[in-house]
Amino acid sequence: MTVWILGDQLSHESVPLQHDDHVLMIEAHGFGERLPYHPQKLVLVFAAMRHFRDELRERGYEVTYIEAETFGEGLDQFYDAAPGTDLVLMDPPSHGAGERLRELVAERGGSLTLVENDLFLTTPDEFDAWAGDADTYRQENWYRHVRRETGILMDGNDPAGGEWNYDDENRETPPDDWSPPEVPRFEPDEVTREVIAFVRERYPDAWGSIADDSFVWPVTREQAVAALDHFVEVRLREFGAYQDAMVEGEWALCHSLLSATINLGLLGPREVVDAAEDAYRRGDAPINSVEGFVRQVVGWREFMRHVYRRSMPELAQANQLDQTESLPEAYWTGETDMNCLSEAVGHVYDHGYAHHIERLMVLANFALIYGVDPQELDRWFHLGFVDAYDWVTTPNVVGMGSFATDVLSSKPYASSGNYVNKMSDYCADCEYAVSKTTGENACPFNALYWDFLKEHESVLRGTGRMGLMYSHVDRKDDEEWDAIRARAAAVRQLGRDGTL
Ligand code: FAD
Ligand code: SF4
Repeated sequence: MTVWILGDQLSHESVPLQHDDHVLMIEAHGFGERLPYHPQKLVLVFAAMRHFRDELRERGYEVTYIEAETFGEGLDQFYDAAPGTDLVLMDPPSHGAGERLRELVAERGGSLTLVENDLFLTTPDEFDAWAGDADTYRQENWYRHVRRETGILMDGNDPAGGEWNYDDENRETPPDDWSPPEVPRFEPDEVTREVIAFVRERYPDAWGSIADDSFVWPVTREQAVAALDHFVEVRLREFGAYQDAMVEGEWALCHSLLSATINLGLLGPREVVDAAEDAYRRGDAPINSVEGFVRQVVGWREFMRHVYRRSMPELAQANQLDQTESLPEAYWTGETDMNCLSEAVGHVYDHGYAHHIERLMVLANFALIYGVDPQELDRWFHLGFVDAYDWVTTPNVVGMGSFATDVLSSKPYASSGNYVNKMSDYCADCEYAVSKTTGENACPFNALYWDFLKEHESVLRGTGRMGLMYSHVDRKDDEEWDAIRARAAAVRQLGRDGTL
């Protein structure tokens, strides 16, 4: 048997590696041309794979490492040298991937055994037993179930601190004189520098920055552990209070920046929540921070993985609101007078990253109320982010961000400029007036928001928790609606013209 390790399975603890010391890794370069992927994402995956290969060799594994155009070509090379080899692989979470790889191997005369993917905290069987035959799911119920079952952040049968959820203590904005902790930098070594040079040369159309000092992501287990330690010691304390905040010029705030590292397998979900819980038990971090972090990992991350698994392939194509607009040009150029959008797109271009609230309440929210085709938005998120993988990007973008299906939430995350104004300092420096809904320099979010509610009334009015919003809709007269529609149409035209 030989263990086949994919680029997002870089864990020394994975079960198959405990049983076999022959390993196959294939670095498939053609994959990186399917979309103009962010160059930092390409560097991250290839550099992390090469470091993992070297670490395995140091530990005594015999690693066959193949650089090829496709998995098929890589397997051709492998089977030419080792005909008939039986491979074992942890089942990849992306829809249908395991079966496709099994076929590729079978076509070359080998066999592929798929085993459980142990890089998640919960198993498919656990979720399926919890969900039964439901086809819509609610995160909060799942989250409490997992905490009860695992004992994470529990005091006996009760949640630590007395509450399950401290969401309402995650919504502060920092004072003007506050500055966030410095982002940890993991300087590229020779292996990574070689990959950076390769990516620059091979993928000239990649969208995003790979300036000399821009690549700072962990690429080894040792760096991953240092990143986790840094988060727990330096960022976690204020993470909770400022979890939903946005600050001009700051891309990271107190977020953990660990998603890409966890998604690669360099850190395990259990170890990151244990580290956060330990800080709480030691009295080093408050409950609103620790619970907030645990909720994201144990609740949302695991939930998304299972909802995706059970809802594909329909999820990827969902479009219950029949949205058809193209993404405004500003998502590609970052050139817009909308300060919030320009900041958020700039963060993605520069770092392959924007934090959750910029993703949800700026980038996805604006696309949602503007009317962007969910699949087009999904592609943009897939190519732009260092932590993007189908199993996590698709449910977040198509489900949570675009409300293209009600499988994981009962209402859209749609808001006017008020939300951005409340949670950020962006509006103060913006060319648009957040206080205005109609007219020349009115904040584009405002008219689009009301137009969105009116346009999709038949789907949205009856859904959970939209009653208050529709009571405002009902109070507007025809004249107001005419002005709102005119402004919304003008905003969409600006978006199409690239002059937002
Ligand atoms: P923190 O704010 O520090 O949160 C801690 C951890 O919780 C993250 O590292 C991540 O592992 C996990 N997490 C939090 N929210 C989610 C979530 N909704 N789904 C899955 N994991 C979550 N996450 C990705 O990993 N890849 C994506 O491609 C991705 N695309 C997204 C697209 C949209 C439109 C939205 C709204 C969210 C998306 N997310 C995605 C989820 C979330 O925004 C990121 O995981 C998070 O911002 C990563 O930054 P961080 O590590 O600093 O997170
Ligand atoms: Fe964004 Fe509107 Fe605020 Fe400008 S005024 S930053 S466009 S929410």
